[in-house]
Amino acid sequence: MVMILKERVIENRIMGDPIQMLYKMVISGQAAQTATPGQFVHLQVADSNEPLLRRPLSIAGIDKNTEEVTIYYKVIGKGTELLTRIKENEYISVLGPLGTGFTVPDSGELLLVAGGIGIFPLLSLIQAVDKEKVKLKLLWGGENKQFIESAGLIDIEKMGVNLDMSTLDGSLGTKGLVTDLLESYLGDNTDTIAKPKDNGKQNLRVATCGPKGMLQAVTKICLGHNVPVEVSLEERMACGIGACLGCVCTVKDLEGNLKRKRVCKEGPVMDGKEVVWDE
Ligand SMILES: Cc1cc2nc3c(=O)[nH]c(=O)nc-3n(C[C@H](O)[C@H](O)[C@H](O)COP(=O)(O)OP(=O)(O)OC[C@H]3O[C@@H](n4cnc5c(N)ncnc54)[C@H](O)[C@@H]3O)c2cc1C
Repeated sequence: MVMILKERVIENRIMGDPIQMLYKMVISGQAAQTATPGQFVHLQVADSNEPLLRRPLSIAGIDKNTEEVTIYYKVIGKGTELLTRIKENEYISVLGPLGTGFTVPDSGELLLVAGGIGIFPLLSLIQAVDKEKVKLKLLWGGENKQFIESAGLIDIEKMGVNLDMSTLDGSLGTKGLVTDLLESYLGDNTDTIAKPKDNGKQNLRVATCGPKGMLQAVTKICLGHNVPVEVSLEERMACGIGACLGCVCTVKDLEGNLKRKRVCKEGPVMDGKEVVWDE
C-alpha cells in the first residue's frame, strides 16, 4: 500500500563544488522500512500548492536500523530549488517508496554502469549486494573531475566497489564515454558472459542509470554480448502511483507485441531488452 508519510529531514546540504548544485538529503521515518534499491520517493517540495506536483527522487541509501533514507539531487528548476530550502529537523511529505526497483543478485557478477547523476539509484544497489557472494564492478562516466568528486566519489570509494571512471575532458579516469569503458570491459571478460547455449545461466548481469541515449547505447552493447541488462528510466511524472498515465513508455513483449508500461509503477527499472527506445 502506498502511503503519504511525514518524514523528518536529518540532513540537507550542498555537496562539493557549489557550481555543480548537487545536494544530499537524509530523511528519517517509515519509508526506510520497505524501501528497496532502485525505488524512488515522491516529495512535496513546499508547503504551498506551488508547485502542485511532487518531485520524484531515487532512493540512494537505505538504513533500516536508523530508519533513514538518503537521496541525492541536482538543482534543475523550481522544485529542486525549493527542496534546498528545507532545514534540518523540518518535516517533509513523502509519497512512497514507489515503483519497481533493481533485481539484487545473490551470486555471479553485477556490473553497474552509471552516467552522471545516474549514479544515485545505483548506490542503494551497491549497498544491498552481498559483496562476499557477488563480484561487483562500477563503471561511472561524468563530465569532469569536479562533477565526479562533488557527486560523492570519496564515499563511493569507501563502499567497497571496484570502480573505473571516464570523463568527457579526461580530467579523471579515461577520456571519453562510459560506454567506451563498457565495451572494453565486456570485451575483456568474455569468460563470465553467457553464450546463447548457456540457456540463461548468466554469471554476469548489468544494471544501469543515466541519460536515455546512454541507456539505449548500454542496452545495445549488453545485448550484443548476450548480457542481461536492467535500466532505470526517467520520465517526467505527475501522480507517481500509476493513476495518471503521464509517464508511460512503450515496451515489446517476448512475442513482439507492443505494450505500454508506467515508468512510475512497472518501472523505473525495466528489462532493457523490452524497452522500445526509438518510439
Ligand atoms: C524515477 C525518477 C528518479 C529520479 N531520481 C533523481 C535523483 O535521484 N536525483 C536527481 O537529481 N534527479 C532525479 N530525478 C529527476 C528529478 O525528478 C527532476 O530533476 C526534478 O523533478 C526536476 O524538478 P524541478 O522542479 O527542479 O525542475 P522543473 O522546473 O520541473 O524542470 C526543469 C527542466 O528540467 C526538465 N525536467 C524535469 N524533470 C525531468 C525528468 N524527470 N526528465 C527529463 N527532464 C526533466 C523539464 O523539462 C524542464 O525543462 C528522477 C526522476 C525520476 C522520474
